[in-house]
Amino acid sequence: MNNNFPLKKLQNIRTPYYYYDMELLESTLKKVSEEARKYNFTVHYAIKANANDRILEMIRSFGFGVDCVSGYEVKKALEAGFGNKGVVFAGVGKADWEIELGLDNDIACFNVESVPELEIINEIAASKGKTANVAIRINPNVNANTHHYITTGLEENKFGINQWDLEKVTDAISKMKHINLEGLHFHIGSQITDLTTFRDLCVRINELQKWFISRQIYPKIINVGGGLGIDYNDPNQNPIPDFEAYFKIFNDFLELKPDQEVHFELGRSLVAQSGNLITKVLYVKEGVKTKFAIVDAGMTELIRPALYQASHKIENLSSVATEEKYDVVGPICESSDCFGKALSLPHTSRGDIIAIRSAGAYGEIMASQYNLRELPKSFFSDTI
Ligand SMILES: *Cc1c(COP(=O)(O)O)cnc(C)c1O
Repeated sequence: MNNNFPLKKLQNIRTPYYYYDMELLESTLKKVSEEARKYNFTVHYAIKANANDRILEMIRSFGFGVDCVSGYEVKKALEAGFGNKGVVFAGVGKADWEIELGLDNDIACFNVESVPELEIINEIAASKGKTANVAIRINPNVNANTHHYITTGLEENKFGINQWDLEKVTDAISKMKHINLEGLHFHIGSQITDLTTFRDLCVRINELQKWFISRQIYPKIINVGGGLGIDYNDPNQNPIPDFEAYFKIFNDFLELKPDQEVHFELGRSLVAQSGNLITKVLYVKEGVKTKFAIVDAGMTELIRPALYQASHKIENLSSVATEEKYDVVGPICESSDCFGKALSLPHTSRGDIIAIRSAGAYGEIMASQYNLRELPKSFFSDTI
């Protein structure tokens, strides 16, 4: 039984829905800001993790910037009141209108992933009589040791520019009148829990910096991306990621030049533990080895288990009876619509309220209307 949830109130709301613990979100953001401030690091929130208005409002109140991966996200960030000078824009396939939007709003930086993209940004900036600030996204070939769908920093991934192409890129930039090379950008993957991976990233960045400096190129900003993981197995024990150790690694291992700034783009680690998908048990059905607990939420509300084989802690908030084994499955017509197999849960019956934990990142934002379902609503601990 988890007493952190206001069960009586949750029971009265039509399931499924997202429930956000705003106190936890606030203490997480407070910790991030304190630890980053120690070293004068700049934090951008990766808005693709969760763009819920209440969540954005709280993140904005801490003064973070925003990392966007589409023009729609740039729009959303500006509408939510984040200043244009804190907006950075990444993505391998920026459309012309998205580049124009960024230029028209004088965003801080385009994180650029190829020479053809640089050429188009230069051309569009020229037509507007502007100069675009860019950081080149370099593929550092550091293995994030995470699920292959969320590994982005290897040579075979579509993201970033490989080291052997850097000469071409810097030559091209030197001829572009409307491009200002502001920084170097890296992002090697997501849900990284082994912090030595970030130490490896720092070592690679130091090597790459030497390459640039030997060519008299002094990038002002080193953007190390995001990717810090969270504890999906035990959110009660580890509600806040170890930001202290995380930021310290970059301070200890990055070799910076005077006046160089270090920027971060954190998504999951800021918001994941604050979100829960609340669902109700519809039926309990006998299976071959275990029972099926069929709940009213599915992959339409939370696709991570189906998409990344992710596992989320599942708690029955209504029952304290002895534990049995259940496969917790949703109602969607897909075999992958399964939240967990052979999980130990207290004896479960129709009507029990289930919390699927750590669902604040890549949860609500990835919801779909497959099977013509409605998009989930959201509720907040401070206003429920
Ligand atoms: C997704 C993404 C992030 C955030 O990743 P998290 O694992 O959620 O911290 C940061 N930067 C870029 C470029 C991204 O695409």
